[in-house]
Amino acid sequence: MNPIPAPISPPSRVLLGPGPSDVAPSVLRALGTPTIGHLDPRFLSIMDEISAMQRVLFGTENELCIPMSGTGSAGMETLLVNLLEPGSRALVGVNGVFGTRMAEVARRSGAEVTVAEGEWGRAFTPDDLRRTANGGKFDVVCLVHAETSTGVAQDMKDMRAVADECGALLLLDTVTSLGGMAVKLDAWGVDAAYSGTQKCLSCPPGLAPVTFSPRAIKRLQSRSHPVQSWYLDLNLISSYWGGERAYHHTAPINMLFGLHEALRLALAEGLEARFSRHHQNGRALWAGLAAMGLELPVPRDERLAQLTVVRIPQGVDDDRVRGFLLEEFSLEIGGGLGPLKGQAWRIGLMGAASTRTNVTLVLSALAAALAEQGAAPAHGALAAAAAVYGEEG
Ligand SMILES: *Cc1c(COP(=O)(O)O)cnc(C)c1O
Repeated sequence: MNPIPAPISPPSRVLLGPGPSDVAPSVLRALGTPTIGHLDPRFLSIMDEISAMQRVLFGTENELCIPMSGTGSAGMETLLVNLLEPGSRALVGVNGVFGTRMAEVARRSGAEVTVAEGEWGRAFTPDDLRRTANGGKFDVVCLVHAETSTGVAQDMKDMRAVADECGALLLLDTVTSLGGMAVKLDAWGVDAAYSGTQKCLSCPPGLAPVTFSPRAIKRLQSRSHPVQSWYLDLNLISSYWGGERAYHHTAPINMLFGLHEALRLALAEGLEARFSRHHQNGRALWAGLAAMGLELPVPRDERLAQLTVVRIPQGVDDDRVRGFLLEEFSLEIGGGLGPLKGQAWRIGLMGAASTRTNVTLVLSALAAALAEQGAAPAHGALAAAAAVYGEEG
């Protein structure tokens, strides 16, 4: 090849979109640690430490608590291909893009899928699911804890009771919640959950922490068909992560170094402190956006602090605003996904990126972007945000 391309030198960005989020500097350094073998005794102890730290973040005592090779979507597939087979029945709550994707993956796993349709931008109540279940029996009930397409937090209270009425395992997507808000799988009675590294864990995309309860493992072991995906078959993978350390596929060693550091950072900060940091920065952002006259469509008590959806004002050009932010401030925010495309922006304050500095930056940058289109926003955004920090002294 002539000329040979120059080494990559991408611009330095502030990532305040729906993921990936800014990676913590010590995680970047951990990724660059010299590679060792995936069966090296020291690597095996690193794997054990990752499992143990994942258990704390997930709020579970489950033995099976491992990162799958692949992004958050690989975690989704892992749950569904292992727990469903032809003839299974799945009840999936769909109130956004990721619920829609779960329903699709469940169908492709051979299940008969019943969709509980929810309003986009609102959470489900247990009765919403009961209405669709209509007294029927299911193998799994699936929900998304933090719907990144709409900015909605799903309250898990009483969802175990719904799953019990359905005779089902309860499955949860925690891709955008893990590390950014409380996840208490055992307390909620969740049987299996998955996440991703690139949202509130502030690690690059590439791994999907998953966990299965003993009851979910029993289901896996009593399947009548083999798991359709060889790569994601937990029967096989758990013998690498479990006692035997049998080779299945080569673990992405350096990504696991990065995840180890990301989990360590979360525990060193303290989970309560980490969640209140996310909450405070989220509230400051909401106050600033509201002061600018922008509309936040999700009701306050259902909003995610780590991912805020803002309606794009009439007459404002979406692409031009996001282009301006990238060009002038090297700042990335997200556009709307699915039906919200062109209707909304999505501003993430995830993991290491959830800082007061970034709240100030995004409010100032957005005000400049709107002013550039003659949509002069009301002043006072920064004062309104500052007041939120003042509240707690
Ligand atoms: C991002 C995301 C996923 C998919 O994760 P990828 O890393 O993009 O594969 C799944 N569910 C939710 C809620 C997400 O936000």
